[in-house]
Amino acid sequence: MARREKDATDRPVEAAREIGDMSGEEFRRFGHEVADWLADYLAGPARPPVMSRVSPGEIKSLLPASPPSEGEQMRAILEDFDKLIMPGVTHWNNPSFFAYIANSSSGPGILGEMLSAALNVNAMLWRTSPSATELEEVTLDWLRQMLLLPDDFSGVIYDTASIATLCAIAAAREAVEEINVREDGLAGVAGQAAPRLRLYTSEHAHSSVEKGAITLGLGKSSVRLIPADSEFRMDAGLLARAIEEDRERGFRPFSVVATTGTTSTGAIDPVDRIADIAERENLWLHVDAAYGGPAGMLPEKRHILDGVSRADSIVVNPHKWLFVPVDLSALFCRKMDVLKEAFSLVPEYLRTAEASRVNNFMDYGPQLGRRFRAIKLWFVLRYFGVEGIKARIGHHIELARELSRWIDLSDDFERMAPTELAIVCFRARPLALPYSDEGALDSLNQRLLDEVNRRGKLFFSHTRLNGRLTLRLVIGNIHTTRDHVRLAWDELNEVLKEIMRV
Ligand SMILES: *Cc1c(COP(=O)(O)O)cnc(C)c1O
Repeated sequence: MARREKDATDRPVEAAREIGDMSGEEFRRFGHEVADWLADYLAGPARPPVMSRVSPGEIKSLLPASPPSEGEQMRAILEDFDKLIMPGVTHWNNPSFFAYIANSSSGPGILGEMLSAALNVNAMLWRTSPSATELEEVTLDWLRQMLLLPDDFSGVIYDTASIATLCAIAAAREAVEEINVREDGLAGVAGQAAPRLRLYTSEHAHSSVEKGAITLGLGKSSVRLIPADSEFRMDAGLLARAIEEDRERGFRPFSVVATTGTTSTGAIDPVDRIADIAERENLWLHVDAAYGGPAGMLPEKRHILDGVSRADSIVVNPHKWLFVPVDLSALFCRKMDVLKEAFSLVPEYLRTAEASRVNNFMDYGPQLGRRFRAIKLWFVLRYFGVEGIKARIGHHIELARELSRWIDLSDDFERMAPTELAIVCFRARPLALPYSDEGALDSLNQRLLDEVNRRGKLFFSHTRLNGRLTLRLVIGNIHTTRDHVRLAWDELNEVLKEIMRV
């Protein structure tokens, strides 16, 4: 932050030995300064490279190895933030961030986050802040309606979809009648062999599904990955066959996780058909709509939500495609009692008289302390409104379609997957070059990816589809316009030409 003249709020060093917080006067001054800095940062246009250029260890080497024994001036701390920390930041809020699942915070979301930090509420019990609990209930019910889910679903906010899915799998396991992991643990009742549980998900499901199974002690081998069709959607026929085969081999199928909007390509699993199977086989159906869910609000994308209301639980990430700052993930569940049964344990010091009449959200997961995350969701939903959010998501999908058209018309690039949402999967495959072997194409694309990212005008990432290195450009940042996508396309073409020249 820009240096100013020494001012009245620069405290003398001995003040650091006093007790108490920063003075109100000092907080006000630096608060304004930080707000100005944030407004400038978000507006650009002086934008640093999107992907940080530092080498591993570089930032650490600039920082003292031990903490300061005396307090320091806020001015010096902010200057070091600019000088030492910013170069090591990769700018997710840059409109030319197209990597992974691009997302962004937004003005109202940032303001909500600031208030939440100032209140420092711990939303573990209703009484530790009734507003935190009840605003969480209300905003999640708004989100439920936006996603056209029936009103027997209620929600709980977690930090991430990974944790939401882990909790959903824990609930699914809790629902298995023959075992009681809560009481007996994984070893099962002494003398009685516990059934070998099986969970099904597509080979394109997010890694958090397997990670959840690992963390819950089910083991990676409890997850059976179902092959996808040519458009990267779970093959429901193969799911049915796998369950049948597993039952014959003595496994106990207990859950299936469908994905609406896979991370690699944005593919939508056939949830309706999967729900038929889950109902027939008595499996807990969890839908990972972390990324794709919000797009289902658009009339032209309503099919994304087909069958989703038949699930037992659904995760949606407002920090992915709803412009809420990381972190905020929403789990909707129609069997909250089972989720509660999996986790709730109330020690004496957390007992309250109103417990039977309210939600104590600590009951629905492994953690006690919880941030007051609902504020930022409330701010974002109110500020943009449902129509405003739909317009922004629709715009992203339109930009992704336009980029897909440019790729399809190009002699130098080809598309690698349908553009269902706002993830565009493609690779360079210049007609002019005699690339016949896949290995050479992979290395050409790796060089293109590395070189474009090194130059810093944009940042994008990759996946592998059918064994082939695939470049991914994802439009999900609220600041991204057609110009940014056009510039990214120009840059890709320019860098490809340069690589092929040498
Ligand atoms: C990003 C993503 C996740 C994981 O989200 P976190 O909130 O980072 O844990 C899970 N599933 C899908 C489909 C995703 O795209």
